[in-house]
Amino acid sequence: MDYITYLKKILNDEEIDLMMEEYKKKSVTSLRLNLLKCDKDKFCSVFNGLENHKYVDEAFYYDKEVFAFGKCALHNAGAYYIQDASAMMVVKLLGIEKGDKVLDLCAAPGGKSSQVASYLKETGLLVSNDVSNKRVRDLSENIERMGASNVIVMNENVEKISEYFEGYFDKVILDAPCSGQGMFRKNSLTYDDWSYEKTLRMAEVQKDLILKAYKCLKKGGIMVYSTCTFAKEENEDVIKYLLSKTKASVVNIEMKDDFSRSFLDGAVRLYPFKFKGEGHFVCLIKCNDEYEKEVKGGNKPAFRKDIEIYREFEEKFLNVKLDGLFIKMGDELHLLKEDYFNLSGWRVLRNGLHLGSIKNNRFEPNHALALYLKKENVKNCLDLRYNSREVDDYLKGLTLNTLNSKGYVLVCVEGVSLGFCKDDGRYLKNLYPKGLRVM
Ligand code: SAM
Repeated sequence: MDYITYLKKILNDEEIDLMMEEYKKKSVTSLRLNLLKCDKDKFCSVFNGLENHKYVDEAFYYDKEVFAFGKCALHNAGAYYIQDASAMMVVKLLGIEKGDKVLDLCAAPGGKSSQVASYLKETGLLVSNDVSNKRVRDLSENIERMGASNVIVMNENVEKISEYFEGYFDKVILDAPCSGQGMFRKNSLTYDDWSYEKTLRMAEVQKDLILKAYKCLKKGGIMVYSTCTFAKEENEDVIKYLLSKTKASVVNIEMKDDFSRSFLDGAVRLYPFKFKGEGHFVCLIKCNDEYEKEVKGGNKPAFRKDIEIYREFEEKFLNVKLDGLFIKMGDELHLLKEDYFNLSGWRVLRNGLHLGSIKNNRFEPNHALALYLKKENVKNCLDLRYNSREVDDYLKGLTLNTLNSKGYVLVCVEGVSLGFCKDDGRYLKNLYPKGLRVM
């Protein structure tokens, strides 16, 4: 079956014409502000005139030929995440409340996870997982960039997660791997790669994933199932499969004039010819089953001596006292907001906030700490304009002029933390990580 023949199964003739027209257009570009680090009013005072997203208040459309937000220092600082406007609807529709324990099972590169972290506002827990050991590294880097401290990034198989976390989470996101019809405008390779057999193959994977994801919910908890494809086999049929195997129920999503009806009551389809974005399927599911299993903390705290070494650094350079459970892995000191579950035995890339390393009784802060801190949290700060030469120099790894202070200086861009420098009274030694430098 070719793609057009397939589309006739899900769209009428007029919709097919509209869809084919859309594929010829360039993709819509949008960004979502990271509310952990970036204030909407401040952002709009610097970049005015951007079109606001209709439903996600802190998101904007932009023309990358007018301003390349992907290349701006504010991107490196984690002020925003560049994300498709329809993909943002997934977490928006799920609704995150402060204190929620959230699992994002197929999370890389981190669009949905970064949005969850932005809404959790340092409360609760986000476990962000991806099975791909290549993609999970981008996920971890993106979580770091967002300055989030309450996220555990893992590279585990779903089976193990599902068994361990039975009945544990308030919210689960299953943004499933799919045949990607919503990506055709962005990536013509996906279009060439489409086949009906692939759709059927993906549907089998999705059915397996959805059962495992559902089991991680506590009774009354909500899962969002989403894909960036329009295939019924990968969307509604997968939900129906779950409904047939469990007591799950669909939570109704209120229809809006730019949403399209799904083949299942309560779910929605976002088509690029109607909704300004690349396209998504979204369905909310409530857990009515009781999967109970005790999940306990028990992470070993760091030695008091190590915490004291960190505290010395804190007193000298910060205006904030960080609290939680300090844990040490090798030389690396991390801070968990709470001792939610035992991390040993997991393939973890990020254990909450990576504070820094302790070597020879000296503490060296990690880049993640710089990205987490606010301008007002530090004693020494250098705040640069986004379009200044100095900020470009900083991102290239060059030295900057001294502030005539001694020790660590937080470099910010438009008030948003970007990284550390170390002042020796002659110049600022650049501590922006080598792997992130812009050449
Ligand atoms: N949610 C991500 C975001 O918003 O940036 C996009 C996720 S992408 C659609 C699907 C992800 O599922 C991929 O990163 C892929 O590596 C992952 N994946 C594929 N099969 C998986 C499996 N069996 N278990 C866990 N993750 C899987």
